[in-house]
Amino acid sequence: MKTENNLKKQQTSPTRKTMYKNFPMVPKVIFGSGSFSQLGDVLLPMRKSSEAPFIFLVDDFFENGEFLSTLPLMFNDEVIFISADEEPKTAQVDALVLQIRQKYDEIPSGIIGIGGGTLLDLAKAVSILLNNKGLAKDYQGWDLVNHPALYHVGIPTISGTGAEVSRTTVLLGPEKKLGINSDFTTFDQVLLDPDFTKTVPKEQWFYTGMDCFIHCVESLTGTYLNAFSQSYGEKAMELCMEVYLNDLAPEESRDKLMMASWHGGMSIAYSQVGVAHAMSYGLSYLLGIRHGIGNCLVFQHLEEFYPEGVRLFNKMMDKHNIVLPKGICADLSQKDFDVMVNVSMGLEPLWENALGKDWKKIMTPERLQALYQKI
Ligand code: ZN
Repeated sequence: MKTENNLKKQQTSPTRKTMYKNFPMVPKVIFGSGSFSQLGDVLLPMRKSSEAPFIFLVDDFFENGEFLSTLPLMFNDEVIFISADEEPKTAQVDALVLQIRQKYDEIPSGIIGIGGGTLLDLAKAVSILLNNKGLAKDYQGWDLVNHPALYHVGIPTISGTGAEVSRTTVLLGPEKKLGINSDFTTFDQVLLDPDFTKTVPKEQWFYTGMDCFIHCVESLTGTYLNAFSQSYGEKAMELCMEVYLNDLAPEESRDKLMMASWHGGMSIAYSQVGVAHAMSYGLSYLLGIRHGIGNCLVFQHLEEFYPEGVRLFNKMMDKHNIVLPKGICADLSQKDFDVMVNVSMGLEPLWENALGKDWKKIMTPERLQALYQKI
């Protein structure tokens, strides 16, 4: 998952005991092969009127008549196909919100996101911005959203990001790559139909699944770890190992990876990610590299921080004949490295989780740049 669910509130002060985060979970979820056919039944009671449409934001991978015919469209419902070739941007959210506001007199009944992390994050952000004034970039940060989001539903079509359970939506803004972290970000309804993941290309299946694996490694080895996170993280890790190191039947593999993603997301919800995510954010901010592959590009060089995790990662790479591109940072200028280092080091909770309170003594800008130079 693209995440930075923070534990900022979980600090001790001299006058108060530890403050524990009261975090929202997805209140309703359907799981099962073919469950997508129930979407119409799920949405029907949530329709506000025949003038208040559901807006479906769908990965343009599915832009064909066959898929359209499976959508439970009624009245003036609208389908907007969106390319997931690039990471979601704040300006993209603002444009969608404006488009929807101008087209309909009534506020829509809800937003349905169908796709990978990008589409799920866009659906969350659009539903927040339709009920809150201003621009998406104004809400990048922690707990800045004032009003509940519009009803929103997440339907992942690839497994691993954990975006279906997280309370964040990570957006590339004019100044930073940062999530809108809020209690209103979390989906009202999630529909997990593993059949969607049948058509995922192998490389993407690997990179996005490794996002989940890396969530587990970072959560389970982090200083923020607690029994809540551990219980989910260990289960997710176990499922990832089964999927990527055993030879499961395709259907079983799809089911298990979908649940690994869910549990991995739950694990970091109550802890935090670490070095790989902090670095990968810098990489994608500067170069627009997608989250899943960005994590893999970074993670392969992190054996000093995650020895066992990197060993398993290499084993999975071998088993599936994955070859990562090389020389990504070869032609970058010092200015470029400074940008990446700054974006990355700004993600303090991630570093603190990974390396402890004194992380700045361990991870200096020079050391971080040397790591980037290996990629
Ligand atoms: Zn992630």
